[in-house]
Amino acid sequence: MIQKQKGTRDILPSDSYKWQYIEEKCKKTMQNYGYKEIRIPVFESTELFERGVGDTTDVVQKEMYTFLDKGQRSITLRPEGTAGVVRAYIENGMASLPSPIKMWYAMPMYRYENVQKGRYRELRQIGAEIIGTNSYLADVEMIAMANELIKQFNIPEIVLNINSIGCPKCRQEYQEALKKFIGKNLENYCSTCKERFDKNPMRILDCKEKRCKELNKNAPVILNYLCQECKTHFESVKNSLEQLNIEYVIDSNIVRGLDYYTKTVFEFVSKTENYTVLGGGRYDGLVKELGGQETGAIGFAMGEDRLVDIFDKYNKENIEDIRADLYIATMGENATNVATILANKLRSYNICVETDLCQRSIKASLKYADKINARFSLVLGDEEVKNNVANLKNMETGEQIEVKLNTDDILSIVK
Ligand code: ATP
Ligand code: MG
Repeated sequence: MIQKQKGTRDILPSDSYKWQYIEEKCKKTMQNYGYKEIRIPVFESTELFERGVGDTTDVVQKEMYTFLDKGQRSITLRPEGTAGVVRAYIENGMASLPSPIKMWYAMPMYRYENVQKGRYRELRQIGAEIIGTNSYLADVEMIAMANELIKQFNIPEIVLNINSIGCPKCRQEYQEALKKFIGKNLENYCSTCKERFDKNPMRILDCKEKRCKELNKNAPVILNYLCQECKTHFESVKNSLEQLNIEYVIDSNIVRGLDYYTKTVFEFVSKTENYTVLGGGRYDGLVKELGGQETGAIGFAMGEDRLVDIFDKYNKENIEDIRADLYIATMGENATNVATILANKLRSYNICVETDLCQRSIKASLKYADKINARFSLVLGDEEVKNNVANLKNMETGEQIEVKLNTDDILSIVK
C-alpha cells in the first residue's frame, strides 16, 4: 500500500472541525485589527528564499524542498510565508498603496525537517505581516494580536519571550565580541557552526546541537550592544506591553531561525509541551534586500499544527463538530423522492439534513442515524407521504412527535 510521506499528516473529516475552529477564530481576531488575507503561490524561485531567509540559516542550508522544473528553473516549495509576501508586496506595487499594509495568511509550508513531536515536513502556519512602518507601535500591535490569538484558545502555560537583536549598525560591534568569544572554542563546535563563523556568527547562537548550546552559555548578549535608536525602540515596546498588561519575559537567547529579523523578536512558548507555538519579529531590511525601497516591517507565524495539538489536549469537551440536525429514513421510491425534496427545502433554512444514500432498510437507516449522532430522525414510507404526516424522533430522548410534512412544522421542532 502506498503510504503518506514522512512528516505529512492527513487531517481527517472527524478532526477537521478543530482546524476550522482555530482558523475561524484567528481570522476573526485579525480582521478586528484590520488585517486582510493574502494568498501566494506554494512554489517560488529558490533564490527568493536564499536571499530572503538567508543562506546560512537551517531553513536554507538543510530544510528546503528544492527541485528543477521541466524548464530547468530552480524551484522551492515555500518553507515560510514572509519572503513570498514581501515578494508579492514589491511585485504588485503595494508600496504605493496607503501605508502600512496589514496582511494575514494561513498556508502550508514545506521543510525537510528531522521529524519529531511538533515538527513536521508539511506544516501549517497562520501568520500576519505589517509592511510600511518603523514605529514601535507596530511591534506592540503585532505582539498584542499574537497574544490575543493564543489566549482565546484556553491553553495553559504559554509564556511570551521577547528580545531585541538590534540593527546592522549595532550588530557590527556585537559580532566582533561574539567572534572573540566563540573563536576561543571554535574547534569544539559542530561543522555547521564552524562554517557560519565567518559569514554569520549570530547563527551559531541558534544551533540546536547540545554541545554547541553548552559552549554558547556565557556568550555576550546583544542587548548590551544596542545602539541608542534600538534601545529606545525596545524600551517603548516594553513600556507599551506593560500598559496593556501583557506579561513578558526578556530572553536574550532568542535570535530566531531566519536571517531577516532586526530589533524586536518574540516567541510564545508552551511550557507544557516545551516548544514554540508562535514566533516573529521585525524585519526592516527584507524589502530592500528583495529589491524594494527601504521599508520597516514586522510579522509573526504561528505553528497551527502545534496549536491544534495542544488545543485538542486541553479542550476535548469545549468544542463540538457539526452533526446532522435531521436524518430522513425512507422506504420506497415515492417516499425517497419526497424526502429528497423536503431535505433540500429544509437545508435552505441553514440546518444540516441527511438522507439515506445507500437504499438501506428503515432499521439499518436508523442505526446509521444513531451512529452519526443525528439529533432528530424522520421515517417516511408510502403511508406517511399519502397522509402528509410522519413521526419525528428526538434521538437523544427517544421522544416521538407527529409532524406535518412541511418545513414550518419540522423547523419549529428541529431548529
Ligand atoms: P525552530 O527553531 O523550532 O525550528 P523556527 O525558527 O524554524 O523554529 P519559524 O520559522 O519562525 O520557526 O516558524 C514559526 C512557527 O512555526 C514555530 O514557532 C512553530 O510553531 C512552527 N513551526 C516551525 N517549523 C515547524 C515544523 N517543522 N513543524 C511544525 N511546526 C513548525
Ligand atoms: Mg526550524
